Amino acid sequence: MPRDYYEILEVSRSAGPDEIKKAFKKAAKKSHPDLNKDDPDAERKFKEVTEAYDVLSDADKRRIYDQYGHEGLKSRGMGPDFQYSNVQDIFEQLFGGGFGDLFGGGGRSRGPRRGADLEYPLRLTFMEAAHGCTKTISVPRRVDCETCEGRGLKEGANASKCGTCNGAGQVISAQGFLRIRTTCPSCRGAGTIVRPEDRCTACGGAGKVRETGEMEIKIPAGSYTGLQIRHTGAGEAGDPGGEPGDLYVTIDVSPHEVFKRDGADVFVTVPVPYEVMCLGGQISVPTVHGEETVDVKRGTPSGHVVVLRGRGLEMLRARGQRGDQQTRLVVEVPTTLSEEQEALLRQLAELRGQGVHNKGFWQNLFDKFTG
Ligand SMILES: [Zn+2]
Ligand SMILES: [Zn+2]
Repeated sequence: MPRDYYEILEVSRSAGPDEIKKAFKKAAKKSHPDLNKDDPDAERKFKEVTEAYDVLSDADKRRIYDQYGHEGLKSRGMGPDFQYSNVQDIFEQLFGGGFGDLFGGGGRSRGPRRGADLEYPLRLTFMEAAHGCTKTISVPRRVDCETCEGRGLKEGANASKCGTCNGAGQVISAQGFLRIRTTCPSCRGAGTIVRPEDRCTACGGAGKVRETGEMEIKIPAGSYTGLQIRHTGAGEAGDPGGEPGDLYVTIDVSPHEVFKRDGADVFVTVPVPYEVMCLGGQISVPTVHGEETVDVKRGTPSGHVVVLRGRGLEMLRARGQRGDQQTRLVVEVPTTLSEEQEALLRQLAELRGQGVHNKGFWQNLFDKFTG
């Protein structure tokens, strides 16, 4: 059983034409398939709303519906199966403009096509990304033909009206219930066609030529993998009168042997001689910005982390601020010992009351020297 038209538009049975128009606009917006892509039922709802409006906005149909209901319309050939006027046309009559105008950009755009965006992957070394740099890249792209200034025409020649769309640049096609306006496939929205003899010889009438242009790209200090640097208008050329696309340079940073990073923070592991960890002292630590002297406290355990504030990388979202360097100090164990070192170590072990194992590393070494 079809739903009541007044109920669908949420108006009373005594609603006037203006009220019905307003209710329809609201309901159509709520159910329009273009604006409700997640709702598989949107097209049905939209059809229902449009149908209700079609009947209630027409004085004759409304009178029949009020008296005899859905059946009354059907028996007079005005039922739900009737061919009714293009929804798009209803909108244009009502609100002056298509869906796009009505819904503020929600519909299809008109006018010359914008150029395509380009993506350029750029690999950087860790240090290039850390300090920033300037890179020259070669970007192949379609640009406006210089000879014809993107018009695709020989000098003095003119384009003629496109026969497919009769110059409108758009064609109307049926898509299920809806009739949809799409860019004309023959003239690609231009509304005009160039005769073969009028085509620009430099670009073959395309108005565009493929060109590899060199570009300087400034890489900001602190750049990270996945960062996209946008160059507005450096993408491909659009149709005449249309905007060019943008160029997106996508950064990929190579790993470093010494430095690891997480955002603007840098992580380094530094081996420190056993005696320095025990007795305290000063060591030299690498940072992205050069060597730093770090005080090691007496009795520092292996794995201790010293935080060097502001010695990390630039924060791209907070200019002038830097992350930290987390410096992890680990005991450096010598793999070779002189005879004297060996003797002293043994003496130390004895003093501390620690027996040195027979089959241990030190024992083997000891055997070599004494045996
Ligand atoms: Zn040309
Ligand atoms: Zn056309």
